[in-house]
Amino acid sequence: MKKPLIQPKEISVEQRIYNFDEVVCGYTEEQALEEASRCIQCKNPKCISGCPVGIDIKKFIWYITQKDYPSAYYTISEKNNFPSICGRVCPAEYQCRKTCVFTPKDRNVAEENAINIPLLERFVGDYARKHNLALNLTEKIKTNPKLINTKVAVIGSGPAGLCVAGELARLGVKVDIYEALHLLGGVLIYGIPPFRLPRDVLYYEINLLKNYNVTFYTGVSVGKTLPFRELQKQYNSIFIGTGAGAPTWLNIEGESLCNIYSANEYLTRVNLMHSDKFPEFHTPINVGKNVTVIGGGNTAMDAARVALRMQKIKGINGKVTILYRRTQEEMPARKVEIDHAKQEGVEFKFLVQPVKFSGDTRGYVKSVLCLQCTLGEPDSSGRRRPVPIKGSEFEIETDLVIIAIGLKANQILLSTLPELKTTQDGDIIVNPETMETSIPNVYAGGDVVGGEGTVIEAMGMGKKAAQSIVQKLTIG
Ligand code: SF4
Repeated sequence: MKKPLIQPKEISVEQRIYNFDEVVCGYTEEQALEEASRCIQCKNPKCISGCPVGIDIKKFIWYITQKDYPSAYYTISEKNNFPSICGRVCPAEYQCRKTCVFTPKDRNVAEENAINIPLLERFVGDYARKHNLALNLTEKIKTNPKLINTKVAVIGSGPAGLCVAGELARLGVKVDIYEALHLLGGVLIYGIPPFRLPRDVLYYEINLLKNYNVTFYTGVSVGKTLPFRELQKQYNSIFIGTGAGAPTWLNIEGESLCNIYSANEYLTRVNLMHSDKFPEFHTPINVGKNVTVIGGGNTAMDAARVALRMQKIKGINGKVTILYRRTQEEMPARKVEIDHAKQEGVEFKFLVQPVKFSGDTRGYVKSVLCLQCTLGEPDSSGRRRPVPIKGSEFEIETDLVIIAIGLKANQILLSTLPELKTTQDGDIIVNPETMETSIPNVYAGGDVVGGEGTVIEAMGMGKKAAQSIVQKLTIG
């Protein structure tokens, strides 16, 4: 009989809703050994094809079973510099766990019993951090003599940019990363709350890049405070990984009322600017008693869980409700995030479409008018389309709204480059084989070129771009 999946410990709901501490605890050594022992070391390991950066999953798991954690870490590091980050935020149920032999082929999401690859990766990454294994890693890596005098600029320090920088710097390329914000990490720091990705983990893995040949410049907005043309003069190649920082709005009446935030702004205020600690930190935020979050992705779950913690921390006895146009089945958010939100007390209203916001005499939102929906035929995304039911209007009272229905590429830099080809939505168009843009020697990847918006997918694009850059720099 197959052994069951080893479940990690989680911090209790009563404890965790009053702070931003990590919710899911990592495996203990005993648990990691037990979970690793469930891997049957397939002759043809399908899990690897499910990993966007191609980690030799079978091999690193085997090293865990041998208690050879340094070798497990070095195996992962051949393909990925950020095991502790990816082990926490990768949607593995749609990637390596889905292609693991334990998941039947016809499934579009991993079988519950599939090997918990991300938690094993996280265990190895955390072990390496505690034992400073990365220092030995720099000695193991051979640089490419042909790349020694080459320089690459990376714009944006999110997952795609960090991945490109790591891949190139390890080979001897001099990499400079330009970040517009005052802290590094891009969406990893402004978008993902610390209860999913603790900041010590994030900073540690980012700072490891300094062991190679990477220099960081924060507070530099390329296209605003530093012209792109300057970079073109100084560097052999440029990688644009500026992410998708511009919000998508519902475009309905009343959307500009006070206390209606985009999820991006709301999360940035708390995650990056620490408005939970206002006035110690200088960024204020309004904390509603009756918060409504609109959307069904991971960002909506993050926003709802942050809003709930803000209420608890500020001693407000309120509620947080998520409105979604379809049913839970069509929700793009990871099941684990939906489960965590529900456990913590976030309420869900499905098949609901907002059509108008109303405000009070001071201009603050006081309610949202909605239509009840039913599900119709599948749309271009393959999910059944929500169809509003005529005459089904109803009103929901609310004093703070967070809109989390998607993000678009930030146009600050892109608008300064007329020769850069973009889609109608403003995403950069790249050659999918090389990630090169319409400007020679300028590459792009991550959310700024569209896609699923996952951290590991962005890293996969960064890896591909790095390989193309190396090929061009060495072969010409
Ligand atoms: S497919 Fe699953 S069982 Fe097979 S090697 Fe990969 S993780 Fe192990």
